[in-house]
Amino acid sequence: MQLSDGFVGTVGNTPLIRLQRLSRESGCEILGKAEFMNPGGSVKDRAALYIVLDAERRGELRPGGTVVEGTAGNTGIGLAHICNARGYRCVIVIPETQTQEKIDLLRTLGAEVHTVPAVPYSNPDNYQKIAGRMAADLDNAIWANQFDNLANRQAHYETTGPELWIQTDGRIDAFVAATGTGGTLAGVARYLKERRPEIDCILADPTGSGLYRYVTTGTPEVVGGNSITEGIGSSRVTANLAGTPIDDALMIEDQQAVTFVYRLLREEGLFLGSSSGINVAAAMQLAQRMGPGHTIATILCDGGARYSSRLFNPQWLASKGLTAG
Ligand code: PMP
Repeated sequence: MQLSDGFVGTVGNTPLIRLQRLSRESGCEILGKAEFMNPGGSVKDRAALYIVLDAERRGELRPGGTVVEGTAGNTGIGLAHICNARGYRCVIVIPETQTQEKIDLLRTLGAEVHTVPAVPYSNPDNYQKIAGRMAADLDNAIWANQFDNLANRQAHYETTGPELWIQTDGRIDAFVAATGTGGTLAGVARYLKERRPEIDCILADPTGSGLYRYVTTGTPEVVGGNSITEGIGSSRVTANLAGTPIDDALMIEDQQAVTFVYRLLREEGLFLGSSSGINVAAAMQLAQRMGPGHTIATILCDGGARYSSRLFNPQWLASKGLTAG
């Protein structure tokens, strides 16, 4: 028998998909790690699982306990599944700017959801800080703290990175990804650089984020206006991201991301969210820069259904000055 042990045993080991049209067009192997195929539907299942298992191991989370998190959605969704599977209560603080689809799904999964105004990290009422305070006020509760809890990047160092290495037989020339907490890029880049330091590890950054400048000048500084992308971009260097070996950064405009979201849907048959669009747009730019014959991997972070009312709604797109392309 070849069985996966419950929800927890089904996280990770996702396929690595050759994007056929985009590979042909670029002359490179453009590969997307199918993180939308995780059982909770996103790349964040890996971090959520490692955070919970790590807290159990440390004795911070005991039977009947509560997991509290501030999240743009996907980490909360992963945590809600894991809490159900392991018998914990799940409390989620989410900025009210995130899609209704993600908020509804969190409630459907049984999480206690608190929507709060979106305010900068420096404000004490930022969603992450509210989550920290809520956890401190509860017994037998942890604040998952995905941004600064290093169990997040450890998940990618121990699983996503090695999977990419094995799935490409070590023939990977570049890895590119947008970051929210930085866990994915930090864990994968650290692992791949240890295997072969010549592998280019590149950040893809949306407008309105400070990380493009962090990589190119050493200091985070916000460039451009707000992006429509969700779950990525940051104005600060999280503990997870700090010290990551990053070779370069690409700034991706929203229209490019949307164009690739629709190309992935229409040409590759993949229904994905906006961060996957940023990632694939960046992989194609990198292919152009590196020239034909290279193998470039990126992350297909989550599915499109979480964004139906926005990214896949022509009126909403038009209201943002964007088109399906
Ligand atoms: N894409 C989506 C849709 C996400 O929700 C997130 C995490 N918020 C990311 C990408 C970035 O992943 P990480 O937190 O590992 O940087």
